[in-house]
Amino acid sequence: MRAVGMLTIGAFAKACRLSPKALRLYDELDLLRPARVDPETGYRYYAVEQLEQARLVAWLRRLGMPLARIRRVCALDDADAAREIRVYWARVEAETAMRRELAAFLVDHLSSTSRKDTTMLELRYCALSDPGLVRTANQDAAYAGARVLAVADGFGPGGAPASSAAVEALRYLDREPLPAGGVLSLLEDAVRGATEAVREAAGPDAGAGTTLTAGVWTGSQLALVHIGDSRAYLLREGGLFRITHDHTVVQSMIDEGRLTAEEALTHPQRALLLRALTGGGTTAVPDLRLHDARPGDRYLLCSDGLSGVVPDEEIRGVLTSAPAPDEAVRTLVGAANAAGGPDNVSCVVADVMEAA
Ligand code: MN
Repeated sequence: MRAVGMLTIGAFAKACRLSPKALRLYDELDLLRPARVDPETGYRYYAVEQLEQARLVAWLRRLGMPLARIRRVCALDDADAAREIRVYWARVEAETAMRRELAAFLVDHLSSTSRKDTTMLELRYCALSDPGLVRTANQDAAYAGARVLAVADGFGPGGAPASSAAVEALRYLDREPLPAGGVLSLLEDAVRGATEAVREAAGPDAGAGTTLTAGVWTGSQLALVHIGDSRAYLLREGGLFRITHDHTVVQSMIDEGRLTAEEALTHPQRALLLRALTGGGTTAVPDLRLHDARPGDRYLLCSDGLSGVVPDEEIRGVLTSAPAPDEAVRTLVGAANAAGGPDNVSCVVADVMEAA
């Protein structure tokens, strides 16, 4: 006997343009239960009102949404379902961006190891951190050594210990020979060490943490570890290139074309970070980059206390004219303070030289 107001699985499949096989699968996966199953024949019957939901399930599967999440979306009203899909997709895009970075890094790494580099280069470097003119405490940390360059900008309660911990976790690389396993193992150790050190220093508070922009020198390359809104720049042949991507809300708005770089400078939420090393249980993954260095290159790592108030063109001017790293960092910090010094400011400058 046919149930009143119900469609057979065949008729329902035809109406929602899905195969009966797909509908049976959705039933087994608990994504879309038939409105009624005949106890004697086992035939599945669907209600007309389920057509819309069947299509929604099919499209969410096409989107790649995990089954458990589809079940959740289907149980929500339209407004909440819309919000849930938006949240899911934002996450997919963030993860894809991270994987794109990692893929680019691995391509760089594998392309560069095939080149035999005979010239050994070395760094001449200087680091300087200053509280600025407004803040009473300095929550930044900066460090430069023969193999490690690092700037970290702490935030929240415990921001100062967090930034120090991140930088401190990398300093051992200066004291020891390069570990076996090459640059990939080196960076894995650096990222893991900094992440754990910050988690310990910041405690259970996910609102406390730090940015980290660090370079590990291999002798011919600078391996960059970067998370947050501190920056790395490269001055090469007179041109200044920013070689890190800010993990901020305004940068993502720039990327989406919703904001110009100029508008971003004065945006009220310009300091809002999308990614950082923090306390609490969450783990955010830094970007990794490998840079083939050339003699004459000059690297700058800085916190937003510099890049937020001193225009790139002025930074370029200082980096072009200062003869040595120590004078460069002093002049840059001076420029930030001349612009009001509203934030802690940290700079690391390193010159790539032919080994003596
Ligand atoms: Mn800052």
